Amino acid sequence: MNRADNGPGYVGIRFCQECNNMLYPKEDKENKILLYACRNCDFKEPARNNCIYVNKLMHEIDELRHINPEVIQDPTLPRSNEHTCPSCASRESVFFQAQTRRAEDEMRLYYVCCNSDCTHRWTE
Ligand SMILES: [Zn+2]
Ligand SMILES: [Zn+2]
Repeated sequence: MNRADNGPGYVGIRFCQECNNMLYPKEDKENKILLYACRNCDFKEPARNNCIYVNKLMHEIDELRHINPEVIQDPTLPRSNEHTCPSCASRESVFFQAQTRRAEDEMRLYYVCCNSDCTHRWTE
């Protein structure tokens, strides 16, 4: 009985509350969270240590704060009528790609609301 040797190499091993077998990290693709799942029964629990996701969120908020709202005056930027502002429900926004060198962000689009009283910034 040496199950731990077959598991992925990570610290903080958790055990199933139902059957006491080792839990394995598993991505919940639908909810974009990390779970620990038992391979012996159906037991699952959310990972306590969700810092990958938290860090990503913090990073996003930071990027959004650094967008200059004056980009809505920039005639070279593409405009869209298909992305309703989540803040004021205005339908016009400018959008552009992230200016970041992180590969995972390369395709990310940022939107800025064209309502000059709002200039809400968001990302997909
Ligand atoms: Zn179990
Ligand atoms: Zn808006």
